[in-house]
Amino acid sequence: MMPVVLVHGGAGTVPEYRQAPNLAATRAAAESAWLLLQSGRSALDVVEHAVKMMEDNPLFNAGVGSHLNEVGEIEQDAMIMDGSMLNSGGVTCVKNIANPIHLARLVMNKTGHVLLSESGAHKFAHAMGIPTVPTAQLITEYRKNLWEKRRGQANPAVPDEGSKGTVGAVAIDRNGNVASATSTGGQNYKMIGRVGDVPCIGSGGYADNELGAVSSTGDGEAIMKVVLARLMLFHMEQGKEPFEAADLALQHLVRRTGGTAGLIAVTPKGEWTAHCVSEHMVWAGATQGQRYYGLKRGDKYVQEVDE
Ligand code: ASP
Repeated sequence: MMPVVLVHGGAGTVPEYRQAPNLAATRAAAESAWLLLQSGRSALDVVEHAVKMMEDNPLFNAGVGSHLNEVGEIEQDAMIMDGSMLNSGGVTCVKNIANPIHLARLVMNKTGHVLLSESGAHKFAHAMGIPTVPTAQLITEYRKNLWEKRRGQANPAVPDEGSKGTVGAVAIDRNGNVASATSTGGQNYKMIGRVGDVPCIGSGGYADNELGAVSSTGDGEAIMKVVLARLMLFHMEQGKEPFEAADLALQHLVRRTGGTAGLIAVTPKGEWTAHCVSEHMVWAGATQGQRYYGLKRGDKYVQEVDE
């Protein structure tokens, strides 16, 4: 099996001055994840590593740099899924956690549950010895300014235009195991308690060794309505090629919801696709001897490397 890893840094419209740094950071996460994959680590370890790296980067809407909700707090969602046994773990509305994707993995590994929310997730984090971080440490000037523009508006607010900067990763390892991980601060000025697509299995992500792994990004409510990640894999089950399966799923989302989204996916054969119907989706990938990346819809740059 030829290992492959892909990461994304969110679908939407990326302001010009953020395009180069976002792409560079996404490519760096893919490269670092590739080194782990190449050294023989599991797809699950690799997707967690890539997402954690992007959560730690204030450019992205996950971990530090998450969007603020209507009262100026951070509420994060994350999910990880292991394609070998369909094991999955998620957290929603967590506030003072630097790396929600790690907490999601602990939910998967250490509990009999799939999804923990807010106070229960925090109680569990405490029991697992995960330190809480003050909210101020997770808030960036950039997200605060976006929030200030919405302040005082009635909710439910219409989502902001532009990139929300969610992060995700999918991988297949040399043993043929696939995995998916996704993490987000959700949408700017969302209502308290809003749960988006990311922690919901089949919407924000999915992984099944028999079908492949997907991580979604874009309008969370639209993604949930069509169960985007599983819908893409449904089209794979029907015999479609990865790009066509992704396109069918995304066009269905546009037609039925009017929303916008993107996704990255790998298949059990090591094929992959990165596709969006938004103006941009920053993404990068790696396999033996090749690196891939893109920003605008339809972009696919390939770089040959000696290794
Ligand atoms: N899907 C995320 C959410 O709605 C946002 C994003 O992907 O940028 O929470």
